[in-house]
Amino acid sequence: MSDFQLTTYTDGETQHVAEKLAPLMRPGDVITLEGDLGAGKTTFAKGIARGLGVKRNVNSPTFTIIKEYEGELPFYHMDVYRLEDTDEDIGFDEYFNGDGVCVVEWAHFIEEFLPESYLAISISYADEHSRVLTFSPGNEHYKSIAAELTGEW
Ligand code: ADP
Ligand code: MG
Repeated sequence: MSDFQLTTYTDGETQHVAEKLAPLMRPGDVITLEGDLGAGKTTFAKGIARGLGVKRNVNSPTFTIIKEYEGELPFYHMDVYRLEDTDEDIGFDEYFNGDGVCVVEWAHFIEEFLPESYLAISISYADEHSRVLTFSPGNEHYKSIAAELTGEW
């Protein structure tokens, strides 16, 4: 399936893209976020939270691995960086097959636990304030979301 791309020029723009993506999500949807430290994964996750109507402040869950928030749908924000070199399963299935939206930073570290289909988003650093966002949809549902998002941007 083909990829979709867009470039953002400020962190606010990255959040805005994510905010527009949020209402297109369904219960049980999974988004993976890849990119170097400082690429903008947590920035993107904050935008999704805002778009889902999460009121609480969203911080990086690096030390807790998973943080749960209440929004129009439950929002599960994961940062699995610390699971590198382990094959620890912290009950991912229940989240991925649950009733909320899951966003997973550094998802390749838990590749074996990821669902069959998800929306993979890779953020790469172009310059200090510019980022290239690449959307790789795993099925038609995610493809239509990626197309809508990048088409109207
Ligand atoms: P990660 O979770 O990938 O480590 P963060 O979202 O925590 O990254 O940090 C991204 C940093 O880059 C923030 O300081 C943010 O302000 C900055 N930044 C600058 N330009 C952008 C942009 N276009 N999109 C996202 N973040 C940006
Ligand atoms: Mg982060």
